[in-house]
Amino acid sequence: MLYSQAVPLSSLKIQEQVLLAPYTTLQVGGAVRYFLEVVNEAQVEEAVAFAREQNLPLFVLGGGSNLLVSDAGFDGVVLHIAIHGIKEHRESNVVLLEVGAGENWNAVVLYAVERGYAGVECLAGIPGNAGGTPVQNVGAYGQEIAETIAGVRAYDLESGGFVEFDSAECHFGYRRSLFNTEACGRYIITKVVYQLQPEGEPALRYADLQRHFKDKLDAGAQPSLRQVYDAVRSIREQKGMLAGQGGSDGRSAGSFFKNPVVPHSVLEKIAGTLSIDTNGIPHWPTTEGQIKLSAAWLIEKAGFARGFALGSAGISSRHTLALINRGNATAAEIFALRDAIQDKVKVLFGVQLEQEPVQLG
Ligand SMILES: Cc1cc2nc3c(=O)[nH]c(=O)nc-3n(C[C@H](O)[C@H](O)[C@H](O)COP(=O)(O)OP(=O)(O)OC[C@H]3O[C@@H](n4cnc5c(N)ncnc54)[C@H](O)[C@@H]3O)c2cc1C
Repeated sequence: MLYSQAVPLSSLKIQEQVLLAPYTTLQVGGAVRYFLEVVNEAQVEEAVAFAREQNLPLFVLGGGSNLLVSDAGFDGVVLHIAIHGIKEHRESNVVLLEVGAGENWNAVVLYAVERGYAGVECLAGIPGNAGGTPVQNVGAYGQEIAETIAGVRAYDLESGGFVEFDSAECHFGYRRSLFNTEACGRYIITKVVYQLQPEGEPALRYADLQRHFKDKLDAGAQPSLRQVYDAVRSIREQKGMLAGQGGSDGRSAGSFFKNPVVPHSVLEKIAGTLSIDTNGIPHWPTTEGQIKLSAAWLIEKAGFARGFALGSAGISSRHTLALINRGNATAAEIFALRDAIQDKVKVLFGVQLEQEPVQLG
């Protein structure tokens, strides 16, 4: 039987058999054996000691917006990061925002925008917490968090102490960092420092945003940071990708597949399969001499349209890349839809689509 019970251990509240589904935006998945919410760094150390005493694996949970929990749940310890606080320091011509890993990400963006600090305005409306932003180097609408992260503070499970990283040491790449590749699971991020531009101009690199502000830009005017923040949120809402958005399209983990990076020969193979010119296939060159394809385009060409349903799992009616929980979906149903899409795309185009959300259990 699932139950939730508070067992005090010093200041740390330990709950047992807590269902994880409500802690994720996809809202699927079973229970975890121990659930510990940590509000400061001392509690992080206590929680680690507890997991070690129990001889159980440990998983760090932020806002649960890039997470798919299995129906069996997790026989281990979940550390839910609830470390709050935003402090700011001025350093010559920049502002450094020191943010607790448990702060809601959109609230951090709003804090910056309202004070005229540029650098994160295009990342408005991304769900999750500040601590999750360096993990997969979140990016959207022409900005990437790698551009503004000045430092990350974390507990190192190997050395048993707190360590600090500058941006270069985070090894950022497309949806990648030290924290989700070579050192995956090693660090518990407690604080992130963002370097922002006071009285800075908003970034308007993305076509959707340039279109949105066309009249203003044509008249030689610049939108404000707040106007860009609002525009990004409104574009995200239309695509069903806004943090906290309701309805079944809102029960997702965002983009479920990464855009695949492949050798040029794959582009020609796809063109051959579909009897079209390579110019008709959306693709972008990468710095490594390969090309990036649109996962959404491949999925649509493989016959999976927006609104497609398989049991209680489905594809968002507004965004092909978002797999959704149509209501009471199990993780098994999400996996079945994922596998069906991956298999078809692989067979037709020889491209292996990689899952973006982290899987637990
Ligand atoms: C509707 C929707 C839209 C989205 N749009 C975008 C987008 O535009 N761009 C984008 O890049 N992403 C997007 N995402 C994905 C997601 O919001 C981001 O990856 C987000 O940063 C995840 O943060 P989180 O706190 O929810 O992390 P969680 O989902 O809780 O965790 C994700 C991973 O990070 C690890 N982690 C989290 N916090 C910490 C910490 N403090 N220390 C160590 N490890 C940690 C977890 O262990 C896990 O491995 C979207 C998701 C949704 C649901």
